[in-house]
Amino acid sequence: MTFEELNLNTNILKAVSEMGYTEPTPIQAQAIPIILKELDLIGCAQTGTGKTAAFAIPMIHYLHNIGNSSKRSKKARALVVTPTRELALQIGENFEAYAKYTNITQATIFGGVSQIPQVEQLRKGADIIIGTPGRLLDLQKQGHLDLDHLHFLVLDEADQMLDMGFINDVKKIIKLTPDNRQTLLFSATMPMAIRELADSFLKKPKYVSV
Ligand code: AMP
Repeated sequence: MTFEELNLNTNILKAVSEMGYTEPTPIQAQAIPIILKELDLIGCAQTGTGKTAAFAIPMIHYLHNIGNSSKRSKKARALVVTPTRELALQIGENFEAYAKYTNITQATIFGGVSQIPQVEQLRKGADIIIGTPGRLLDLQKQGHLDLDHLHFLVLDEADQMLDMGFINDVKKIIKLTPDNRQTLLFSATMPMAIRELADSFLKKPKYVSV
């Protein structure tokens, strides 16, 4: 399997090839076609398997392709919720690299630092928001973050968010997003609380495991 066979936009293929990726990893080969079909997904995968690109690449493809149509708005079209600042920054760097030859913009939101530059990023508008649960909720409550126009919601490292005590914040965030969103949940392990979360908030999800 090659990235070309996944029917991705050439602007994305160019960025992926510049990264030195020659072929999709197993999680990418399985997840990308499902995400491109606009289906919900549960991905059971550890860090190091290429799971970030497994969601980031098809998300950029989708958002880039609707870019020329009237469906496009300045509002955020995708939210990635992740447990730590380090992961948020790392995911942000990944999105930036894969979106290099597109007009897709992003903002990274996490606690422990001044919110002012983050609010400024949101004010300018970003297609993709990547953030940690507490700060995302704070900024939403203050009216800086509008989640009404999301197509994608990604819950990354869901088991870690559970372990860190973020599950209620995660549920609050999910409830702020549109019902007709496409939801992608990634977790290294599938404890009962994560299965229940998936049962409550995903629609007929496809399941992939590596
Ligand atoms: P992740 O599991 O998302 O943390 O990714 C682990 C590492 O694999 C990152 O450094 C990625 O840049 C790299 N990576 C992701 N996809 C591929 C691929 N298809 N080929 C080679 N390296 C990759």
